[in-house]
Amino acid sequence: MKLTFIGLGVMGYPMAGFLQKAGHEVTVYNRTTSKAQQWCSEYDGAYALTPALAAENADIVFCCVGNDDDLRQVTIGEDGVLQTMKANSILCDHTTASADVARELAAVCQSKAIGFLDAPVSGGQAGAENGVLTIMIGGEQETFDNVRPVLDAYARCAERIGDVGAGQLAKMVNQICIAGVVQGLAEGVHFAKQADLDVAKVIEVISKGAAQSWQMENRYQAMIDNEYDFGFAIDWMRKDLGITLDEARRNNAKLPLTALVDQFYGDVQEMGGNRWDTSSLHARLSKKK
Ligand code: NAP
Repeated sequence: MKLTFIGLGVMGYPMAGFLQKAGHEVTVYNRTTSKAQQWCSEYDGAYALTPALAAENADIVFCCVGNDDDLRQVTIGEDGVLQTMKANSILCDHTTASADVARELAAVCQSKAIGFLDAPVSGGQAGAENGVLTIMIGGEQETFDNVRPVLDAYARCAERIGDVGAGQLAKMVNQICIAGVVQGLAEGVHFAKQADLDVAKVIEVISKGAAQSWQMENRYQAMIDNEYDFGFAIDWMRKDLGITLDEARRNNAKLPLTALVDQFYGDVQEMGGNRWDTSSLHARLSKKK
């Protein structure tokens, strides 16, 4: 298929690579062109200088950019993909964004006979680099059925949750579940250090019991080493929690722990950790007073 990928960040770069390795003809766009050039030297694909140019003739256009406004810019903006996408093609958005922007874009797509899926991902940098992401999808069944086989290139699990917006709402559930777990792990590692335990040994043992989690298996070492220069940036997590807390205000969900952890992430941003991985909640605890 002719595919387009917009946004070659931590996630998008390897995801676009898997599409090319699966045998598709891939054209990429990245705001910082040098990254697109680098991608093309690593994979056998093409790059374009605007999203609109990249999306010409594409069967499916994938996006994985930052937030709602970034997504609007690369889709309905002046040089956005919806300027050139053809009828019966599909826009599949992997950005973690609001359910509102998903519905907004779906309406524009519908007016142009273009299919739309909101398809945020989970699994982090490692999930993207190893092609084992989990994808939560909102949109029409037929559109989903058409895109589903292509997603096998980088997904371990890709499921339709419901209509447009349902993918983003499911991702909010995902982030709510993660927020408390990361703080719990940070407190556990912090306590173990304070108690002069062999932290790695403790984790090796307790990760075989009921305390086990993805965060424990993948993030305890970062907390032990206090090394957070990788992974899922705090700025993105705060964006996700902001969207989630907004939605909760509207649907009356009570999220006291999520709201608290969001404030803790604000503290880490004040420590200069905007681009640190979310496991840096631990840095807030180990900070010298
Ligand atoms: P990232 O490394 O910061 O990359 C963001 C990408 O979006 C870059 O290619 C950036 O271009 C592009 N971009 C941002 N704003 C833009 C704009 N206004 N116009 C054009 N391009 C723009 O972010 P990421 O970690 O890949 O995350 C991407 C999305 O996936 C976010 O919504 C994030 O919440 C979500 N996500 C991330 C993870 C993770 O572990 N990293 C996990 C799950 C979901 P430049 O290169 O020019 O900056």
